[in-house]
Amino acid sequence: MSDAEPLHVSLDPERCRGCQLCVGLCPNDLLVPGQALNQRHETPVQMRYPQYCINCMRCVEICPDQAFDLPETPAYNWQGRVFGLSLRWHRRQQRGLQP
Ligand code: SF4
Ligand code: SF4
Repeated sequence: MSDAEPLHVSLDPERCRGCQLCVGLCPNDLLVPGQALNQRHETPVQMRYPQYCINCMRCVEICPDQAFDLPETPAYNWQGRVFGLSLRWHRRQQRGLQP
């Protein structure tokens, strides 16, 4: 395996139509509405912090346009797991709940 091989799901903005079906599905909240147009003059979603993707495949399964590319060998992403736990802990704190 080369160093360049992606270890997580990635989004190709040129294949995304911006239907936003995937927004809100990501457990780590990585998929958000985008601002920039692609070459088809559609507004693709944005995948922020892609390094925290945990390869859960929820976005891949719902996307009607196959806009996501899969890693050949999805790796366990402990950084992504920690990110997700921290995100949920932070949100509970914001809502005034105990962790
Ligand atoms: S595979 Fe899962 S964690 Fe990765 S971007 Fe899609 S929904 Fe988020
Ligand atoms: S489900 Fe697919 S086409 Fe729709 S916004 Fe998400 S990536 Fe784009």
